[in-house]
Amino acid sequence: MRYLITLLISTSMLFAWGKTGHRIVGMIAEENLTPEAKEQIAGILGHTDLARISNWPDEIKSDPKWDHTHDWHYCTIFDGKEYEGPEAGGRAIQKVVEFSDLLPKGVLSDRDQKNILCFIVHIVGDLHQPLHVGNGTDRGGNAVDVTWFRDSTNLHSVWDSKMIDHMQYSYTEYAQQIQLALTDEEKAGLLNPDIMAYVSASRAAHGQVYDIGDGNLSWKYIYKNRELMEDRLLRGGFHLAAVLNNIFQ
Ligand SMILES: [Zn+2]
Repeated sequence: MRYLITLLISTSMLFAWGKTGHRIVGMIAEENLTPEAKEQIAGILGHTDLARISNWPDEIKSDPKWDHTHDWHYCTIFDGKEYEGPEAGGRAIQKVVEFSDLLPKGVLSDRDQKNILCFIVHIVGDLHQPLHVGNGTDRGGNAVDVTWFRDSTNLHSVWDSKMIDHMQYSYTEYAQQIQLALTDEEKAGLLNPDIMAYVSASRAAHGQVYDIGDGNLSWKYIYKNRELMEDRLLRGGFHLAAVLNNIFQ
């Protein structure tokens, strides 16, 4: 029984930005694609959108056929160090680079093309959740026990979903809210496809993310971190659009 519980818990811990977070990133990206990218993506995915397909790489994790993809959702940068490659733990960066290169070449089967595109959408989103760029010591905050409004959980889960869900917006509402204050110029400035820039920003947020006091998190933690969380979601959407616009020219 204990084994089963452990198994269930560790499986749920592997999830990234919760479903809403990925959909927000997907919807913002969708709205900022070039016409060329939009058309080519529709050719691959058919009649759907980026928000809808964004959670698929998490949904397949329970199927052993996809076990080899479990470390595609995160990367590791040790304290005080630069990124040292996938050997440090997690292949997220490697996979985005590899897939971005592979996709436009037209050598993949229709199904592989679709799967790989889904993974790019998902992984770029994940890399904006600060705890998916781990420090190599606590499984991206999964080993950091906290309470969230008195319920036991861990820091990773607070950032995946608990803070987002607390806002009680649908993903479409939230995607709109986050973009409201932006001018067109600011939007254009956010369209940066440089993966290391957004990974570094996630990692640089750790000082704030890990500032958890006695670990009993509620309103105070939300006041302090809401802006950061929304900034990561916003940039996730724009960076994803930039990555896709780059691939599908
Ligand atoms: Zn993920």
